[in-house]
Parts: sequence; C-alpha cells; structure tokens
Amino acid sequence: AGAAEDPLTAGLNPQQRRAVEARGPALLIVAGAGSGKTRVLTHRIAQLIRNREAWPSQILAITFTNKAASEMRERVQELLGDATEGMWISTFHSACVRILRRESERFGYVSGFTIYDSADSRALLKRIIRETEADSYGFTPANTSGKISRLKNELQDAAGYAATANEADPRERIFVEIFHEYEQQLRRANAFDFDDLIGQTVHLFRAHPDVAAVYQRRFRHLLVDEYQDTNHAQYALIRELTRPVDADLADRLVPPVRPAELDASGGIPAASLTVVGDSDQSIYAFRGADIRNIVEFERDFPGAEVVKLEQNYRSTQNILSAANAVIASNFDRQEKNLWTAEGAGERIVGFTGYSQHDEARFVAEEIEDLRRSGAAYGDIAVFYRTNSQTRALEELLIRSAVPYRVLGGTKFYERAEIKDAMAYLTSLANPYDPIAWSRLLGAPKRGIGPMAEAQLANFQEGRGISFHEAMLRAEEIGFGPKVLGSITGLGELLSRAARMAAGGGAALEPGGAVADAEKPPAPVAEVLKLILDETQMIEKLRAKRDPQDEARAENLEELVAVAREFDVRNPGAGLLEFLTEVSLVAAADDLDDRSGTVSLMTLHTAKGLEFPAVFITGVEEGLLPHQMSVDEVGGVNEERRLMYVGITRARERLYLTLASTRASYGDIGVAMPSRFLQEIPEELIDWRQSPGEVTARAGGSGGSGSRALNAPREGRPTRSGAGRGADSAVSFGRGSGAAAVGEPASGNMQSALERWRERKRLA
Ligand code: ATP
Ligand code: MG
Repeated sequence: AGAAEDPLTAGLNPQQRRAVEARGPALLIVAGAGSGKTRVLTHRIAQLIRNREAWPSQILAITFTNKAASEMRERVQELLGDATEGMWISTFHSACVRILRRESERFGYVSGFTIYDSADSRALLKRIIRETEADSYGFTPANTSGKISRLKNELQDAAGYAATANEADPRERIFVEIFHEYEQQLRRANAFDFDDLIGQTVHLFRAHPDVAAVYQRRFRHLLVDEYQDTNHAQYALIRELTRPVDADLADRLVPPVRPAELDASGGIPAASLTVVGDSDQSIYAFRGADIRNIVEFERDFPGAEVVKLEQNYRSTQNILSAANAVIASNFDRQEKNLWTAEGAGERIVGFTGYSQHDEARFVAEEIEDLRRSGAAYGDIAVFYRTNSQTRALEELLIRSAVPYRVLGGTKFYERAEIKDAMAYLTSLANPYDPIAWSRLLGAPKRGIGPMAEAQLANFQEGRGISFHEAMLRAEEIGFGPKVLGSITGLGELLSRAARMAAGGGAALEPGGAVADAEKPPAPVAEVLKLILDETQMIEKLRAKRDPQDEARAENLEELVAVAREFDVRNPGAGLLEFLTEVSLVAAADDLDDRSGTVSLMTLHTAKGLEFPAVFITGVEEGLLPHQMSVDEVGGVNEERRLMYVGITRARERLYLTLASTRASYGDIGVAMPSRFLQEIPEELIDWRQSPGEVTARAGGSGGSGSRALNAPREGRPTRSGAGRGADSAVSFGRGSGAAAVGEPASGNMQSALERWRERKRLA
C-alpha cells in the first residue's frame, strides 16, 4: 500500500498496530481494561478483508454477548464501508447453534431441536428427581442442574462421570442415574440444554473429522474476545477449529480444494487464531471459566506471538489509579502498568447513605445533576452486585421520573405468560418436546388433568409418534367425551399452526403436518396470532379485570410485536430462526441503541462496556465482596476483579456508594464499608458523606437514627399482589422484548410509569 498512512492503523499506537498487522499462526493480546483490545480485533478483521487476505466468510469472531457481536459487526462495516455478509461474528452459543442446525442429523437430532433454557432444564430435572425419588437424598433441580452444567463445561457426560464416580457412595450413584436419565430425556425430546450447544459441537467435531474439516477449512481466521472467561468446553472448541486438515480428508472435501488452499503436505494448514483478554477481568470462574486458558496460551499454541497493550484510552487518571490500586491487592497476578494520557479528571465521588433508600436517593439526585451539566441519560450506568439491589434504586428513579432500563433482570422471556405462548411455538417446531407440550396443555386451563397427560405421554412414547399426532389419535386411548374433545381440538390447532408455519417445502414435523406446496411459510407473527386468538389467552386474562393480568395481556401483545419486528427484519426466515434468536438472547443484549435511558445492570453484565458516568452501588462487605465469596478459595480475589471491571467501565465520572444499614430478607442489618474502598488511595475520593460521618450521626442523635431504621420500610413494596403487579408493569416497558421492537420504548415506559404511580397513589 506504499508509505501512505493506512487509515485502518493510522490512529493506533505502535503495540496496537503490531497486533493488527501480525500474521503468525497465533496471537495473544493481553492487556488491561480499556486499552483497545476489542478495537484491535475489529481493525484486524477489517484489514484482513480489505487487503483481500480473507473473504468475510472465512472470519469467525467470537464475542461474549450478542450485543457485543452486533457492535463489532457495525464497527467493521463502518471501517470497510461495505457489507460484511457471510462473516460470522457471534457468541460461542450462536455459532454452535448454527453448526448444530446444519449437522444435526449426524447424531440423530432433527434440525428443529429445542434449546432448553435453565428453567426448562430444571423442569425436566424436577420430573426426573421426582420419578427417581432422589429428593429424599437432598437432590433439588437447582443443585443438580448446577452440577450437571459444571460437568458439561468440563466436557463430561454421564457415562464418563460414572467411570470416575465413587460407587460406594449412594448419593453419587443416584446422581449418575439422574444425569443419565436427563441425557436420555433430552435426546428423546430432540432438545439441547444451553451447555450442550458447545459440548455437543465439540463431540460432533471429534466424532466426525469430515464434518470438522468443513469448518476447519472454512474459517481461516478465528478471533476471540474476552478469552479470560472461556471455559474448558469453549477452549476445546477453539482447539478443534484450529486443527489442520490432513491430506486425506482435504482430498474428500466438497467443493474440491484448490491448490492455493493446501500446504506442502497436501493438507490444509490450521486457521490463524487471535485471542484477547485480561486475566484481571476474569469473573466467571463460578461458571467454569479457566484463567489457565490465557496463562497457558503460549504452550498450547506454539509459535504464538504476544502483544501487550499498556495505554488506556477510556478513563481519566483518577479512575485508572483507583482501578490499579484495587487490583494491585490481588497477589496472584502479573504486574501491569496501565497509564492514560487523559488528565487527572474529576475525583471519584463517595457517598454513604443511612439506608439503601438514602443511597438510591443520592444516585437519583446525582443523575439529575449530571443531566444539568450536559450528560444524556444514556451516558449514565448504575451497577450493583446482586439483582435484589435494584428494588430501591428503581423506586427512587421512578419517583424522580428518570427513564431507565434494567439489563438482564427478570427477563421478558422468563415471564410465565410469555413462556406459555413460546411453548406453543416451540412445540410447532419440535412436536416431540415434552416440556413445551406439557406447558401448553395447561395454558390456558382446558380440563386436561395430570392423569390424562400421563396417558397421552405414554401413548406418544409407546407409539413413537409426536405429541401432536398422539392428541389427534386420542380416541384410541379412551377418554370421556369432554376431555377427548378438548384434546383433539388442541391437536387440530397445533397441526393447523404447524402447517402454517411450515408453508410450502419441508414440513416442520417429519411425517406429521403436510405442507401445502403453494404456500410460503407464514410470518411468525401470524402463527402466533392464530394461537393467541384460538386459545383466547389474551381475552381470558383481560376478563379477569386484575391489573396484574392486564400487564400479562400486554406482555403477550408485546410478544406479537416482537415477532412482527422479527418478520420485518428477516423476511422469509421462519419459526425456527425466531426460536433460535429468542433462546440466545443473553443478559446484556437488551442494551440497544436507544440511548435515552439510564442503564441499570449487574457488574457481571457490565463487562466490555463503557459509559461516561458510572455509579457502583452497595460497596459494602457482604455485597461486594459478596458473602458467598468470602469463604471460598480465591473468592475474594474474583470479587476484587469484579470491582476492577466495574471501576474501569467509567470514562469521566465515577461514584462509589454504599449504605450503613441494609434490609435483606426483611431484616435490617448494619452494613460495613467494603474492604475494596480502603484499597483506594484516600485523596482520590471526594466523600460527600463518608461512612464515618453516617455512623457518628446515626449513633449521636435519635432523629437520624430512627430515620435509618424507618426508611427501608417506607416505600418498600411488599411481596404481596400490589408490589408484584407494579413490578411486572414497570418491567414490561424495559424488558428485552420491548427493546427489540421498533415501537418507541418511551411509550411503554411512560404508560408503565403511569400505572406504577397510579397504584402508588391508591396504595
Ligand atoms: P475492556 O478490557 O474493557 O474490554 P478493551 O481493551 O477492549 O477494554 P476497547 O473497548 O477496545 O478496550 O477500547 C476502550 C476505548 O478506548 C474505546 O472507546 C476505544 O474506542 C478507545 N480506543 C482504543 N484505542 C484507541 C486509540 N488508539 N485511539 C483512540 N481511542 C482508542
Ligand atoms: Mg473489550
């Protein structure tokens, strides 16, 4: 390109430039927060494509959330000024779903497989535990699914685990039995759980080298962001994808390989791998993330080049100094020297409230102050350690009419009514799925009791037919006329909807619904509307005249809007893609570009993001570090990394807040300032109200003392109907579903606020 400045590297510092231009087999970029790791990945992809070193279809870039993926895609598009079609920029999970959908027949699954979320998995485990009477041994769906998930992240299956389990321990034997049964039932249901997506792809590649070769050949460049948070299964997947293809296999590939693809041995060389990460930001050990993946990278990928980035472009010096000071207390790390050319900036603001409500009031007031000094609501984020902390914050924000969204809270798709409607759609795509089927039987109630359900399920299993067919043939079982009418009516509705969804071409249900060759697949919204209309789900909720049920009815209407929006965005895509998209919506993905709202999220969700102004709330012992971590080996160090992640999200303004008393589970306890606060040099923090001041005052005068005790009770919604109704009404406007719709969010938010206020007035 000559000596003229390359626009893709012009704005980069020398280390960043090296990272973009390196062309070895493997590249590791290790660097602290905000040093441009993600930016380097983006520029690297753009350069590879622009230089014609790779076609877009030869790139596989892995990010931690779907949101990060779409951001990266946009950035690459901006840099290149044209389309990036065929490029895979996605999460591990989405990439694996795409591979599994293509290759599912290889291992006896139908491509319409269901993806079970954690609630579905637990529903399945609950049954198994009941059937095996394992509950008397202390097995619960929660602890069992946790253990199975951890094993799957280690690529262990039931058989493999059984081989190492202690046979003498009855609990172990029972667990093996549950695990085994769980695997069987997933298979029978044509379903994968979330962890399977990655594990099964690895198994697929290992069992079918010819399938693996297709992807090893296709993806010439693998790039992985946030590598410090990969677990063993994800690591194994990367290993599989970066193996060379031997001459023998390469010979049999379709379309035939061109000479340019081959190396001297006649095989296809391994793809190049670039990973970026920061071991100081490893915060997913509890999910099996293994920091060793980054530490041992050079050993695993010989010939790897290592680039270190040291300049931070995100934060002011004061913020960076605080972050450096905190993380320096972790003794088990490599020293990093992160600096910034930004000036010192404002000091960090500290505040101690008398209660979490007092703390929340401060946050709300400061947000308004920031606004007055020119910040937009979208520039501001509020972080917390646990979801339960949002209650007080939300209440104060609503009272102050600050528009906000909670990212990754109670998710739209986890609501009961949404799961009901989704069960129908799931069952259309996968009529063998017992969890979806069992759910839709009772939604709405139609007089099909547990006995009838069990008989139907036995019939279905015995004949090896789908649930839909079983319902259509229910007369063979012998039910009373009323139940029979109800069952066949439902069976007919499902068949009709399945035909509609399948349209011409292939029927969704193999051997089941007969496709009408003339008709294209109906838009998802139409299929959904047919179901909602025929089952009268919305009318029935409305008829109850209960505000909570009204909110549920609105949520269902919202789901129709989500589907319609999907249909517009993906013409002709169909039901399967819709289900895939919904099941992959991850926590941080509600974060859309409508920037008119303050973002509330957990510290975990905040990873990789940045905001001009950040509040970290609840900086107290027991919360941050979290109580659970304190007794665990390395637990506090992981919490400290979480604190580091939080601090380094802030660009200009950082607030650290806490409360001196906090209500949890109905009790009000005294809260102590977090040890992490003490690790920050005093001169960096401007205390508007220090922990010392608060305790002095609270202890000194009865007035403020009683205020501390009364405050939590005041506006705290009860767990009773009114409180929860308000909850769902408010969340409705901010759920991930709402975020995905083209309709203005403010409308939803506004009416939700209205309803909330109304209810407060009445209460
Ligand atoms: P994290 O560890 O939090 O994921 P990161 O290392 O991925 O951070 P980026 O998000 O890529 O860092 O970059 C942080 C900020 O600095 C971004 O706003 C980015 O645009 C900016 N930035 C990075 N490099 C440069 C540069 N050379 N010149 C100007 N701005 C830069
Ligand atoms: Mg990043």
